[in-house]
Amino acid sequence: MANPVVEVKDLKKTYYMPGGMSQEVLKGVSFTIEEGDFVAIMGHSGSGKSTLMNTLGCLDRPTGGTYLLAGREISKLSDEELAVVRGQTLGFVFQNFNLLMKRSIADNVSLPLLYQGVGKSEMYERAKEMINKVGLKGYEDRIPNQLSGGMQQRVAIARALINNPKIILADEPTGNLDSQTSDEIMTFFQNLNKSGITIILVTHEPDVAMYAKRLIRIADGVVEYDGSVKKYMERSHV
Ligand code: ADP
Ligand code: MG
Repeated sequence: MANPVVEVKDLKKTYYMPGGMSQEVLKGVSFTIEEGDFVAIMGHSGSGKSTLMNTLGCLDRPTGGTYLLAGREISKLSDEELAVVRGQTLGFVFQNFNLLMKRSIADNVSLPLLYQGVGKSEMYERAKEMINKVGLKGYEDRIPNQLSGGMQQRVAIARALINNPKIILADEPTGNLDSQTSDEIMTFFQNLNKSGITIILVTHEPDVAMYAKRLIRIADGVVEYDGSVKKYMERSHV
């Protein structure tokens, strides 16, 4: 049975700058994402992909339209309620890994549990389990600088997974990685998706998008294409 986890309707985002300037970045974006989908979001630089991801991630509020996350209208939630929904539903992965460089791998991975009243030793155990899961067994007491870029991104993925999120939001997660490491990370995402996690990923690389099932292309603030990745790639190569 289809189970929508993300439903956006006529989503708008205008940035208001000091001095009365404004920029309308999202001009009415609509789509529904079902549980278990794997969506790549593409579009030119500056087309609003990160703006859309920040909105989907409840890191920023839209200026118009509606957004239902796991069935809840986010505009009706307070900042505190939003933080709870976000923590229970979403995991984030970024291009630059966003790790705390002076903290251990275990501290980085267990960070999302800090705000949940989980005890110290349980935090460490759960982090260790997740570190094993991303193929970094034995690295829990190292610091990020001792790891390659691909390994650091695995740490970030472990951190994103520690709360058992329904959805992983990844904004250009392979943007700083060489192509072989990119493929490893994307294969990992693909396996996560096969285990039932919904994945929404921003990329500008067609090779990376090919790991997804569905492509949403943003242009001029609206959805320009929404459908099979393969069909889009075939069509754009004729
Ligand atoms: P993309 O991720 O597709 O490259 P972004 O969503 O980062 O695009 O940016 C879209 C447009 O919105 C850009 O022109 C950018 O300068 C502008 N923008 C993004 N974030 C802000 C912000 N916080 N304040 C003002 N303008 C912003
Ligand atoms: Mg961006």
